[in-house]
Amino acid sequence: MRCKWRYDNKTAPWRKPATFLLKLHVFSIKRFFIMNPVKPDPYQPCPCGSGLKYKFCCYAKGQALSKEHPLTLIKKSLDYPVVQCWINENWQQHGLANVFVIRQEPNLKLIIGVYLVDVLCLGVKDTFCNANLDASEVKKLLISSGMPIVEIDYEDARSLVLGAIAYARTLGIEPHEDWRNASYVVDPQRPFVPKFTFGSNGEPMYVQGPFDDADAIAKRLLAKK
Ligand SMILES: [Zn+2]
Repeated sequence: MRCKWRYDNKTAPWRKPATFLLKLHVFSIKRFFIMNPVKPDPYQPCPCGSGLKYKFCCYAKGQALSKEHPLTLIKKSLDYPVVQCWINENWQQHGLANVFVIRQEPNLKLIIGVYLVDVLCLGVKDTFCNANLDASEVKKLLISSGMPIVEIDYEDARSLVLGAIAYARTLGIEPHEDWRNASYVVDPQRPFVPKFTFGSNGEPMYVQGPFDDADAIAKRLLAKK
């Protein structure tokens, strides 16, 4: 198999300090404020629509959830609705996508799955997830990506993440080991609609990032010849 090779230490912009991009973020992050969940008044009707007052309905459940281990909640991701998905605006140009999927728990805390997707070759090369986060913590994560971001449809986000993994597997490359947990957030068992093409002009293109174990990657790519 042919594989193009390029070294470019500019391909890890998510590692850069966020400062110079803060300005660019202002517009897109503003949208995030809109979804900041407001704590319901204990004596108002519960947001779940039961007709009961919040204090006598979901409040206790929410308190219990807040004490759960984040991984327990992440494994139950499908019970919680996706509220927003984000992606770095220039992912097609860089060949690297930073995808964020945010779900809301009944206690109004948030679950996040973050996927660093190399669409040219490696698939999910890094990933991270967490639960029981406040909106402010999620906002910090979005800003710390160090790139201007835009919203993306959830199914498109899934298609990109799962499609990139499928592509990388054809090259003998498995997703980052943390995918084991982070995968729960994007429902990996359900089929996805293929919407994106991977590689560069029909061939994988490995862009070596500054933190890659390039020898190990090369070995795997060459073994697939
Ligand atoms: Zn309720």
